[in-house]
Amino acid sequence: MSIRTRFAPSPTGYLHIGSLRTCLYNVLLARQQGGTFLLRIEDTDRERYVPGAVESLLSTLFRVGLAPDEGPKLEGGVVVQSGDLGPYIQSERLPLYLEYAESLVAQGSAYYCFCSSERLDSLRKQQEIAKLPTKYDRRCLSLSKEETSLRLSANEPHVIRLRMPDGETSFDDAIRGQITIQNAEIDDQVLMKSDGFPTYHLAVVVDDHLMKISHVIRGEEWISSTPKHVILYRLFGWDAPVFAHLPLILNPDKSKLSKRQGDVAVEDFLDKGYLPEALINFVALLGFNPKADQELYSINELTEAFDLSKINKSGAVFDTAKLDWMNGQYIMKKTPEELVGLVMPFLERAGKSVEPMLIKRICSVERPRMTRLSEIVDLVDGYRVLPTFDPQLLIWKKADVNDALRSLKGVRGHLTSMDPKIWEDVGLIEASLKEYIEANGLQNGNVLWPMRVALSGRSSSPSPFELAWALGLEETLRRLESAVNAISS
Ligand code: GLU
Repeated sequence: MSIRTRFAPSPTGYLHIGSLRTCLYNVLLARQQGGTFLLRIEDTDRERYVPGAVESLLSTLFRVGLAPDEGPKLEGGVVVQSGDLGPYIQSERLPLYLEYAESLVAQGSAYYCFCSSERLDSLRKQQEIAKLPTKYDRRCLSLSKEETSLRLSANEPHVIRLRMPDGETSFDDAIRGQITIQNAEIDDQVLMKSDGFPTYHLAVVVDDHLMKISHVIRGEEWISSTPKHVILYRLFGWDAPVFAHLPLILNPDKSKLSKRQGDVAVEDFLDKGYLPEALINFVALLGFNPKADQELYSINELTEAFDLSKINKSGAVFDTAKLDWMNGQYIMKKTPEELVGLVMPFLERAGKSVEPMLIKRICSVERPRMTRLSEIVDLVDGYRVLPTFDPQLLIWKKADVNDALRSLKGVRGHLTSMDPKIWEDVGLIEASLKEYIEANGLQNGNVLWPMRVALSGRSSSPSPFELAWALGLEETLRRLESAVNAISS
């Protein structure tokens, strides 16, 4: 059997971080098995449709490297990169769904229903008052063929409903095992709506069948829909795919992860400076960890290790501190040159124009401390604007004001007298200062602490050698001078 998976979002605005995990698992399975992954936009609910959502969804998927392997070529409005494949779009396939719904009517498994929304509302209210299950009462099931034809030819608004068969329905979930429900618990589902659009249930089954989907991997919230789908597969005489329902993603307090866009939209995470590979790694581990003693996985490692049967059933906690740590790890793996390219858009967006050489030096010395790319915006200020800080900070714990003053002046004198060539290499600056400290019988802390504070204004920063190298001779001397003045006054 060839493996074919799909990600089937509804275009409701943005890509939720939980949906990124769903999409990723579908991609991993397809890639691991040499199969095909496709994208399908489920836009049959016109009330929830958000214009521009498809374009933004696609661009986010391309940004994180989860592009489809199959689909129509992108043209016109939604081109992300020329030659990219696009999604299948359900609203472009409407006649198909009607044809399949009518075939169910023809075999007696579905029926036309002309009940108005007013009638259905009042029926529901009565049932609620009587504490009965709220279900359609099948009034239109008993309409004669003649009456139905007459009302259809008079263009009376109508839907097509599934005639729910008796009995029970079971399916095997690849993560949760067998799930069984009594059909009597399920309403006669609407398959085609009065606006000519199919419902999700009909469209998803028809498309998964026609697109030869072998595995449906989706969120846990779809479990209760699956028996309806299984019934449809049976009535059509089709084989159902393998179903796998992923665990919920939870806040640290175990509530369901927020739906607020700013907190969960993948595009916002990217815009805040999280790297695609960190996001992928992070969401992959929400519900699955191939090895107990490893946290960092490349997409290739994830592809190799992916195993549906090892996915947890219980909810996975979304731990932002872990994501920050992971992002920092990925930032550290970048070369300074790569980082420059990555932080540039953040500086541009903040309207800051900074000489490329300075950005590169800042990236190379700050890399181990960065957790998000967006931090570059504040970091550059630290290298261009004289820091303000309490002069007391200049005094090393085992020293006093005079020591600090002597050290700062000494360093300034030493650096001024050095061959300017040392500024080309941070190692040369370090060697030269260490030699100076040793030759003069000084203590490292006594010299390097005030120097570091003078250059950064911070108690935690890159080393004084790195700071000096990134700032350059002129700015370094200016900061030492300013610190001398601050502590003498
Ligand atoms: N369109 C559904 C959604 O918005 C897809 C559910 C499925 O994967 O079947 O998530």
